[in-house]
Amino acid sequence: MLNFSLTSEQLDLQQKAREFALKEILPVAWYYDEKDETPVPVLNKAYKAGLMNGTIPKKYGGNGHTLLDGVIITEEMAAACAGLCTSIFDNSLGLEPVILSENEPLKKKYYEKVLNDFKLICFATSEPTMGSDVAGIRCLAKEDGDSYILNGTKYWITNGGIADYMSIFATVDPESRHKGICGFVVEKNWEGVSVSPKIPKLGQRCSNTVGIKLDNVRVPKENMLAPPGEGFDLAMKTFARTRPAIGAFAVGVARSAMEFAIDYSKKRQAFGVNIGNFQAIQHKIADMYQKVETSRLLVWKAAWEADNGFDPTISASIAKLYSTDEALGVVNEALQIFGGYGYTKMFPIEKLMRDMRLFKIYEGTSEIQRTIISAHAMNVYKPVMPQLEDLPLHREKDPMDFEFQADKGTISWRCRICGHIHYGEEPPEECPYCFFPKPAFKKVPPNVGVQKN
Ligand SMILES: Cc1cc2nc3c(=O)[nH]c(=O)nc-3n(C[C@H](O)[C@H](O)[C@H](O)COP(=O)(O)OP(=O)(O)OC[C@H]3O[C@@H](n4cnc5c(N)ncnc54)[C@H](O)[C@@H]3O)c2cc1C
Repeated sequence: MLNFSLTSEQLDLQQKAREFALKEILPVAWYYDEKDETPVPVLNKAYKAGLMNGTIPKKYGGNGHTLLDGVIITEEMAAACAGLCTSIFDNSLGLEPVILSENEPLKKKYYEKVLNDFKLICFATSEPTMGSDVAGIRCLAKEDGDSYILNGTKYWITNGGIADYMSIFATVDPESRHKGICGFVVEKNWEGVSVSPKIPKLGQRCSNTVGIKLDNVRVPKENMLAPPGEGFDLAMKTFARTRPAIGAFAVGVARSAMEFAIDYSKKRQAFGVNIGNFQAIQHKIADMYQKVETSRLLVWKAAWEADNGFDPTISASIAKLYSTDEALGVVNEALQIFGGYGYTKMFPIEKLMRDMRLFKIYEGTSEIQRTIISAHAMNVYKPVMPQLEDLPLHREKDPMDFEFQADKGTISWRCRICGHIHYGEEPPEECPYCFFPKPAFKKVPPNVGVQKN
């Protein structure tokens, strides 16, 4: 049964996140964007308001938010400032490998830390020389008694400069690729951890992004998220559960761009009328509205799948790919509706455009989402239609005709090269269309090819 209505708890959460976004995020967004700084006190307020760490299960004292709850909150916050929302959401990303880990004592230890105090945890797979190719991690983890010693550099780490803890992925052997990847929770104040200056960025400047150097960092084995060989899978499962939220970011930003554009189109005059009177503008708004709605549906579906025990990997990739592509188009058209003002810093669209651009890059680029989706479509997805060479594509004879029944001995042959159907006991010596010889023909009775799922 399909049901798109939100529960009263979800509506309350949406309202709470919306109020927080309008009261605490929106007023400071442009100031901190200009300063290229993360307002940590706002993150603290989000923590106190119960809008961070929501996915920690109830049995450990958390809110036990579903992924659907999470994407509803994320859309609201991202609508006010994607950068700040990235920093707020980053605790969910950093915590997800902990949630998925089988290390019970580790879960308890770090859940307690982030639930009882305002603590930030970031996530690190990427390095200066690799991002998409997670199996290509070079950061080395060397076993040493009851510890591992980490050496390497993590790069692009959101909240890395302000976080207390880090979910870090490393490898025991770079040559063995997937098989060597492992994961650890590392504390930032441990000896050997150092942080780079902020990486200067185009957008999402309210989120902190840095490099992290690990120089002989001793990590006790009890802090292991995943042993060697299981880290890659853990990272992929993490992304499958966090990518819907990136789609929700895109929906939030696109929704704001659309709302600002509608407002502007009702007030800006050209040729003696509001520009919203022009059909060209109305059609842009229709397209924006349609893209926001369709993107949200895909995001909700992916979150729903994760919440209901399905593997959300493909839906998560589709949601991220589609909504980030379409949302960029929405912001672009909003900028067009604002004309010259859209291109200035005096109006909100240029920031939305800069912030939005990142969604097609982090947590797996659009190209990587397409790789995941095409691998599924071409290798895993079960087609309903018969294979082309079995297709009963009868144009010359009616398959309903009594004379033409497979069990009455009428035989049809399909040329596998050009598709020509020949009727008779035997295939022709040569196809009359493509001139391929007899072996090119395959028998196709009228009802062949019904697939079982
Ligand atoms: C602001 C910001 C915040 C980030 N936060 C974090 C974080 O908190 N934690 C973290 O671990 N990482 C983080 N990242 C890193 C981010 O996930 C990577 O930048 C991203 O995965 C792409 O990796 P890359 O930059 O190394 O590009 P590359 O992997 O070098 O890719 C370069 C280009 O080649 C394309 N490409 C690569 N491989 C293929 C392929 N097989 N087929 C087709 N095209 C391909 C890519 O799509 C891209 O267009 C962040 C990045 C940014 C910019």
